[in-house]
Amino acid sequence: MKDVTVIGAGLGGLASAALLAKHGNKVRVLERHFMAGGYATSFHRKTREMSLRAEFEVSLHLMGDLGEGGALREVLSELGVLDHVEFLRADSLYRALLPGMDIQARSYEAYEQTLIARYPEEQEGIRELFAQFIRLRQEMLLMMNKANRGEDSDIFSDAPTLFACSNLSLKQMLDEYIKSPELQSIIGQQWQYYGLPPSQISAAYYAYAWTEYMLFGGYYPKGRSQQISNALVQIIKDHGGEVLLRQEVTQIEVEDGAVRGVRTKKGYFPTEFVISNADPRETFGRLIGYERLPRKYVRKLEALKPSLGCVQAYLLLDIDFQKVYGEKNHEIFVNEYFDLEQAYEDMLKERYDQMPFSITIYENLNSEYQMSGKTTLSLFILNPIDGWSGLDKQAYLAKKTAVTEVLLGRLERLYPNIRQHIDFVELSTPLTNHSYTGNWQGAIYGAQQSVEQSLHRRLPQTTPIKGLYLAGAWTRPGGGYSGVIWSGYNLAKQILRNKEAVIQH
Ligand SMILES: Cc1cc2nc3c(=O)[nH]c(=O)nc-3n(C[C@H](O)[C@H](O)[C@H](O)COP(=O)(O)OP(=O)(O)OC[C@H]3O[C@@H](n4cnc5c(N)ncnc54)[C@H](O)[C@@H]3O)c2cc1C
Repeated sequence: MKDVTVIGAGLGGLASAALLAKHGNKVRVLERHFMAGGYATSFHRKTREMSLRAEFEVSLHLMGDLGEGGALREVLSELGVLDHVEFLRADSLYRALLPGMDIQARSYEAYEQTLIARYPEEQEGIRELFAQFIRLRQEMLLMMNKANRGEDSDIFSDAPTLFACSNLSLKQMLDEYIKSPELQSIIGQQWQYYGLPPSQISAAYYAYAWTEYMLFGGYYPKGRSQQISNALVQIIKDHGGEVLLRQEVTQIEVEDGAVRGVRTKKGYFPTEFVISNADPRETFGRLIGYERLPRKYVRKLEALKPSLGCVQAYLLLDIDFQKVYGEKNHEIFVNEYFDLEQAYEDMLKERYDQMPFSITIYENLNSEYQMSGKTTLSLFILNPIDGWSGLDKQAYLAKKTAVTEVLLGRLERLYPNIRQHIDFVELSTPLTNHSYTGNWQGAIYGAQQSVEQSLHRRLPQTTPIKGLYLAGAWTRPGGGYSGVIWSGYNLAKQILRNKEAVIQH
């Protein structure tokens, strides 16, 4: 039995803690916020009528891979989450609006048919590309599962496709199979979920994430993402562990290159095993000090490129949106043009009037989401922190108002007169992300999922400090709900196999 302290109650930290607690280890989670979940939380606000308290989802649009046979479904089942949380399946994964086009992605087969019907001359390439995506998924899963069982794997024989593609960006892979730039943009639509355009995002990462949704559906938990976080907390507590809130860790005590304990603002916890779910700059820069780490590792940390943050407008409407506008989709990607590289450029330059954004309509998945007759929307845009930091309070609030106006204007072009139905609207920014989770630059997916920071090049979960491990979006396998749950799960599996002496940085 090990005495394990987890810093941070994001999903990566909670997943590792839950599995370790289930296997009889003594687990303590220390979270600085007053709620568990990190980004996987919800918040309450009073609406215009003041009598109603609406609950808003902080982050989750949809999770993939939870249909029958989905790998994440098996992980959540083993963790015990499926005993606590009901997941609702979306009829359609998303609707993508592009100039002159309105494309539905319902399932793998239907999507493939839709694309082939529009681009019959690309039929062979579409089929081969999607088959390649599936091969990459299967090989990545094989490697991960072998590692979790403690079996040796050999990338040459177990994962030849992954080996061949590990240096490719999505754009390079698309170029091999698809001629039409328009069709490339249609297939790359989900880039908004992963934070980098096709020329930069790792093809293997995109392929895995794409297949999670396309093969195994898009799901949303009844009761919002907070239910997943609460379920993990409950599992930890049911197995004798503790989750202590309002406990900001201020130091990881290291002696002779090994963890000795963890200090918070309120006390000291001796421990030889620490899992940090916090941003690595926080973990190593503030809590330990770079001077206590090998220079090579510090250079690696300093070279990390964060993913973008985001701007998100949370809206409550006083209408049944589906009845009034006939919109049945849960998720809508809005594009003013096809060029996804231009889109990324526009995001970096904060061109709010033209950059792509997504609309999530929660009642379209769960009619009882809020109160009857109301509709809850979120408008989501990837966004860098630079344009928000350094503003004084007045300028910050003025910018929030201006950006909200632009977004509502664009929403109104799609759904006329929608403004008159707004009961409540609030905008979050990358600064909001940073202030609630401590993630550097308000990054929402940890380190960018670029070719240079994916697969075996991503920051490992073991560290140069004996007894210190990482879980969450900054480390392997990657960001997003699925990535960080896998991260916590894989790490716990490794610790359970007692291979902690193996340091692979
Ligand atoms: C608006 C938005 C929309 C998103 N939409 C989706 C989506 O639809 N699908 C999807 O898959 N992903 C989505 N994501 C991304 C996803 O939410 C994150 O990648 C994931 O939740 C990160 O989990 P994590 O385990 O890395 O921890 P985090 O959520 O980053 O949590 C880290 C925790 O550590 C705590 N902590 C930090 N420092 C300390 C300290 N010193 N002491 C104690 N505690 C500390 C923080 O308070 C926090 O609770 C979205 C994110 C945002 C913001």
